[in-house]
Amino acid sequence: MTQETGGFAAFNLNPNILAAIIATGYEEPSAIQQQSIPIIMAGHDMIGQAQTGTGKTAAFALPILHRIDPAKREPQALILAPTRELALQVATAFETYSKQMPGVTVVAVYGGAPMGPQLKAIRNGAQIVVATPGRLCDHLRRDEKVLATVNHLVLDEADEMLKLGFMDDLEVIFKAMPATRQTVLFSATLPQSIRAIAERHLRDPQHVKIQTKTQTVTAIEQAHLLVHADQKTSAVLSLLEVEDFDALIMFVRTKQATLDLASALEAKGYKAAALNGDIAQNQRERVIDSLKDGRLDIVVATDVAARGLDVPRITHVFNVDMPYDPESYVHRIGRTGRAGREGRALLLVTPRERRMLQVIERVTGQKVAEVRLPDSQAVLDARIKKLTNSLAPLVADAEASHGELLDRLTADIGCTPRALAAALLRKATNGQALTLAAIEKERPLVPNNAPRGDRPDRSSSDRPDRGDRERRAPMPLAEGRARCRTALGARDGIAAKNLLGAILNEGGLAREAIGRIQVRDSFSLVELPEDGLERLLAKLKDTRVAGKQLKLRRYRED
Ligand code: AMP
Repeated sequence: MTQETGGFAAFNLNPNILAAIIATGYEEPSAIQQQSIPIIMAGHDMIGQAQTGTGKTAAFALPILHRIDPAKREPQALILAPTRELALQVATAFETYSKQMPGVTVVAVYGGAPMGPQLKAIRNGAQIVVATPGRLCDHLRRDEKVLATVNHLVLDEADEMLKLGFMDDLEVIFKAMPATRQTVLFSATLPQSIRAIAERHLRDPQHVKIQTKTQTVTAIEQAHLLVHADQKTSAVLSLLEVEDFDALIMFVRTKQATLDLASALEAKGYKAAALNGDIAQNQRERVIDSLKDGRLDIVVATDVAARGLDVPRITHVFNVDMPYDPESYVHRIGRTGRAGREGRALLLVTPRERRMLQVIERVTGQKVAEVRLPDSQAVLDARIKKLTNSLAPLVADAEASHGELLDRLTADIGCTPRALAAALLRKATNGQALTLAAIEKERPLVPNNAPRGDRPDRSSSDRPDRGDRERRAPMPLAEGRARCRTALGARDGIAAKNLLGAILNEGGLAREAIGRIQVRDSFSLVELPEDGLERLLAKLKDTRVAGKQLKLRRYRED
């Protein structure tokens, strides 16, 4: 066990849980975990004020797993979540953390899927039930005893549940459980309605809130970019094309992510290395020395591994994964802008983490401006600028030293100096894409529109065991969705919102029915419901966007 897992080891969690945490690559408990785990392990009721991105799921999942009895094959813990996506995400987290606990099963219970198998899984002895309130009430109507053995209840994102009108369902669920149960409530905000629930249904709850002091950040230009979790690597690669950096540090949450991202960067020719808690001290020093003297330009680190790192060359900090709290954000970005120099900090934000961004802005008292991914033209301009900068200093004395050779070669080959210069350029740039068309071909499909909120197809992101996978191909479709293509793209003056507006208005669809929209230079992709697709496409047959015919067709990748 590395020294860093000492943080988790100190909780005295069941060793099988600790083993799973280590396997997942977590190095240190986050602030909310540090405070909540002992309270929940001790059996107290608790109110935790925390939003997505703080590590709240593990903050309740780990101690709850510790408290259940795997030998008893009956529901022992119920986690209520407002949406199907969150329920699936929480269930996946429980599965990850219980991987090494033989006999523990987790069932996710939500609407839109058949009830039979869900009920069967509960009756077969799943100890952990993760449910949305509405569907769980349907089950209770069929079998009111379903929750009779549950002695741990967690309300996750309680404020969202109330916003979605689940108050009455919650009351039904409370009644169906033993009064002696432990109840834990997590909520980003604590309005009166939540306090009232806590008063009625929690017993002597302890409060946990991450204290945030105002922090000052100086001389650092900050920006954020909205991305989906599994597009982070592609986004980072695009940003690197246009950012003018000297040395750069990237922060991620897990050891695995340091390795994955560092190797993706190396594969693209960057001098990059990973820094995580598993790396021995002498190797760590070598990495830092290399970053100092320019043998390395990028280090991908976890918070733990980057502790005390002070390298004046660092001009940029990329927060690839969100920090757990504003203090750690301020700490991370303080790696740049050293010695009075200017620094730049970029933060990648997934749709679920927007609230965390607001907290950071509030605590630092600064707006973190939104930036977009560079489009192909910006990438081309940046590449040409780099080439210009590398060649310009060579021009001055090249004619004196190589002019005669040039004359001779053009004569021998029988070509113009322009043709020869072009051939030399091709050789010097070594296959790098330096036209718009070539850049478009090589660039992964990253939408240049920002993700719009939390839609069902996003349930696979933000998972504990996700790592950072690069996808060059379009992202997999959510169930029930079809991908459609139009030949209209950015060069036709199209933005995602134009497509969205046209399809909503003329197709008569609800906004949730439309999935991701990806606008590229010469075409765009839109995810639409498979159900009724032909009818929809027929409806949109004559639709025009920006004065041009939309001509949306089903798109098949292969
Ligand atoms: P949550 O706030 O629960 O949605 O968690 C956000 C993300 O942080 C998830 O991808 C978790 O897997 C990850 N995470 C939670 N706790 C830790 C930890 N102690 N170390 C590293 N990653 C963590």
